[in-house]
Amino acid sequence: MTETAASVTSSLETPLARAAAVPVPQADELAGRFPLTGPARIASDAERAQALTDLHFGHVFSDHMAHARWTRQEGWGGHEVRPYGEISLSPAAAVLHYGQEVFEGIKAYRHADGSIWTFRPRYNAARMNVSARRLALPEMPEEDFIASLVDLVRADADWVPEGDGESLYLRPFMFASEAFLGVHAAGVVDYYLIASPSGAYFTHGLQPISIWVSQNYHRAGRGGTGFAKTGGNYASSLLPQQEADAQGCDQVCFLDDVTEKNLEELGGMNIMVVDADGTVRTPHLTGTILEGNTRSAIIRLLTDAGRRVVEDTITLEGLLADIESGKVSEVFACGTAAVVVPLGHLKGEGFDVRIEGQEVTHQIHDRLTGIQYGRLEDPYNWMYRLA
Ligand SMILES: *Cc1c(COP(=O)(O)O)cnc(C)c1O
Repeated sequence: MTETAASVTSSLETPLARAAAVPVPQADELAGRFPLTGPARIASDAERAQALTDLHFGHVFSDHMAHARWTRQEGWGGHEVRPYGEISLSPAAAVLHYGQEVFEGIKAYRHADGSIWTFRPRYNAARMNVSARRLALPEMPEEDFIASLVDLVRADADWVPEGDGESLYLRPFMFASEAFLGVHAAGVVDYYLIASPSGAYFTHGLQPISIWVSQNYHRAGRGGTGFAKTGGNYASSLLPQQEADAQGCDQVCFLDDVTEKNLEELGGMNIMVVDADGTVRTPHLTGTILEGNTRSAIIRLLTDAGRRVVEDTITLEGLLADIESGKVSEVFACGTAAVVVPLGHLKGEGFDVRIEGQEVTHQIHDRLTGIQYGRLEDPYNWMYRLA
């Protein structure tokens, strides 16, 4: 099925964008669905203080994790917040063989008054279910997903850092734990939520990153799992990422698998192109691109600021020509972990171009992080108070 630009649904109206707009009950009402079992504190104050200095991304984990288990007979049960620690799994667990797994990524931000907030949690709740459907995993009620965030963050509130650009990165995930080597959708599934106090994703802040455009590999194909947040998409991006490393580049950009001409996204971030006339363009959602919460929020902010935003096909050839001619002034990537990052260098077989501009990228970064950290007004009620 081919789509023309005119038939493409605007990202302001996708099912995920609509789900994100449904109000969420106050955290006090959801709290307690994942009751704390076991001790309230694990690390000493000194150990925690040590862990919270010099934060990077994804190395350090908080005291607890949330867990629930689904079985085909009983549905979801056993909701709890328990000490963070190793999990034991049958070597025959289906996830280890067939990769039946989905995950999410969302952050808890500490505001200046000490309160703790997250960003559009229903978007991620709804997206986990979209991913789960594609991977034949059970859906989790959206408000249970959000309750797991509330209960874990309340248990580990001291783990939410307060430095500039720091947050408690929350990683919900769900996998097939049934011990069975036959190929079918598992009848036993575990959901976990772990939390990692994190600094900036790219250690060099808003420094531009360099991109290797992969012309040998794709991260997703038509009818596949590109729109789902699932480990397999990441597994298939690791070899091209090594190729990027060998080329001296920070990240990979993938092209579509049908024409092999159109930009899709990075391994874990969407991309946006800023034209010199102020228009912002981003690849439209074709089913092989992941629909980012950050992408969606940026489209909303730019549209409401009166900027022209176009979701369309962006060819690599066209982009290179437009960078050359000055028609394109900036390119940036966006996602929860890294927020917004300028792309300063695009490299691939037969080309090597620089992109200088960063003005709009910085504006968007400052506006979005301003809302997330409570420094700017939140006219969309995107922020949800966890604690
Ligand atoms: C998670 C992810 C993104 C970004 O989504 P956000 O909701 O903005 O964090 C983009 N692309 C891929 C492939 C992803 O997995």
